[in-house]
Amino acid sequence: MLVEEGIKALALRVPSPIQQLQSSFLSAKKINLYIKRDDLIHPLLSGNKWRKLKYNLFAAEQKGLRSLLSFGGAYSNHIHALAAAGKLLGFNTIGYIRGEAADTLSPTLKFAASQGMELHFVSRALYRQKNSPEFLAKLATDWPNAHIIPEGGSNSLGMSGAEEITHEIVEQINTDQFLVATAVGSGGTAAGLLKSGAEVLGVAALKGADFLRQDIEKLLGASANGLDLKTQYHFGGYAKTSPDLFEFITNFRRMYGIELEPVYTGKLFYAIFDLIEKDYFKPQTTIVALHTGGMQGWSGFNA
Ligand SMILES: *Cc1c(COP(=O)(O)O)cnc(C)c1O
Repeated sequence: MLVEEGIKALALRVPSPIQQLQSSFLSAKKINLYIKRDDLIHPLLSGNKWRKLKYNLFAAEQKGLRSLLSFGGAYSNHIHALAAAGKLLGFNTIGYIRGEAADTLSPTLKFAASQGMELHFVSRALYRQKNSPEFLAKLATDWPNAHIIPEGGSNSLGMSGAEEITHEIVEQINTDQFLVATAVGSGGTAAGLLKSGAEVLGVAALKGADFLRQDIEKLLGASANGLDLKTQYHFGGYAKTSPDLFEFITNFRRMYGIELEPVYTGKLFYAIFDLIEKDYFKPQTTIVALHTGGMQGWSGFNA
């Protein structure tokens, strides 16, 4: 099966829908807030993880490689999407998972295994080598048929997919004066958005994330001039939460009828509303916030 035909058959919702959020708070603050629903692209290939996989799949096909190998933690949205994409589009998938195998697999890894992903657990020390040239050279020898994708899908091919988000927005809201707001993990999405020329408000999902600007600049190969990176909305760290954050997510669902999750998008919207409340943005600013998906992440909290 050709990747292009396979993708067509999936009937992805791309361009993803965009909605304007309406409330008296937003009107009073004179902020135009849109939400770009990448969470609706596909039930299993949701959000920015699909964006970042797309051109990696084409690249694998072009190189004649029928396996995809990548890295992630036990709750990784990227591992989840990669496993599903492999199954749907006819690739073998190999996941290098951080940490020792637990007695019971996380819901994410159970799903990945059900899609046929071959799981390899690696020590945290070895996992840290995942981007080193030596480790990657060894992997390439061990897996000659695999296209190797970095953690999170964040390479230049992943950025090309993220760039398309900006192009869709321009078509959808008929202006090029907007700020794209996104949660930041590995930085690939933010880097792609910047590459497309967008002004980006990034909200770090992890603690001590000042290194993220450098990571993003490394991906971009340029300084991240259009990036406003907020690092104070981590709620204690990656995948850490608080009653405050859960309350926000509940209120957001009641108010706007849209479900967020606590690892990325909850923190993003919390940050946006906090900044609007503090009059951080000029009146009449248009913000397009990405719903980057990741709803499978709830399974880890519910388990
Ligand atoms: C991975 C992820 C992000 C972060 O994207 P990066 O490109 O890694 O910065 C944001 N939101 C969700 C839902 C994700 O799964």
